[in-house]
Amino acid sequence: MTNRNSIKHVLFDLDETMYPKETGVMDLIGERINEYMSLRLGIHPDEVSALRAAYYERYGTTGRGLYLHYDMDVHDYFEFVHDLPLEGLLQPDPRLDEMLKSLNAEKVIFTNATADHARRVLQVLQVEQHFDRIVGIEELEYVPKPDIRAYQKALELARGRPEECLLIDDRVRNLEPGRRLGMTTVLVGGPAVDDGADFVIEEILQLGGLMNEIRSRH
Ligand SMILES: [Mg+2]
Repeated sequence: MTNRNSIKHVLFDLDETMYPKETGVMDLIGERINEYMSLRLGIHPDEVSALRAAYYERYGTTGRGLYLHYDMDVHDYFEFVHDLPLEGLLQPDPRLDEMLKSLNAEKVIFTNATADHARRVLQVLQVEQHFDRIVGIEELEYVPKPDIRAYQKALELARGRPEECLLIDDRVRNLEPGRRLGMTTVLVGGPAVDDGADFVIEEILQLGGLMNEIRSRH
């Protein structure tokens, strides 16, 4: 059994974990992906949605599938899909700032998006200063979660052992590999009980309280 008092690193997913789904950021990224597929790669618009679903299932992200199956310039792809008016969608989040300040652990962003996108999101939320490291898709060598290699790479970069890590994500399937490695997992915004995660919180702001609870159990 993991000694949960020993949590030293918190690995945060970015999109729809650090801010709520309702902001619409991911919907816009989805629209940009669709546009990229039809405009830049010449995929018929009628085929885009089925192809995205298939790639998501098989490879973790659409980007990974396009990278493997099309002669695609990944830098161009990510620049295009992350080209968003973030300032109009997100706002500074003083409560998130407060919670992160109180969290006594190394904080790492672990995202399938680019580090550049992550940095922009954190800047708009005004919480960038709390993060010791951003592990984006470039650092993952373009192998996204839930591929086990992504977690191994993140651990290597954070110089952490799995049992010292708390893994936070809004998708259960991105938590499962971490859990198998021995990380403690927290689902954000999910159904109140989920067998795929060790803990479930409604929103990221509840992480401070959960962390205290985890550390006091033991
Ligand atoms: Mg997410």
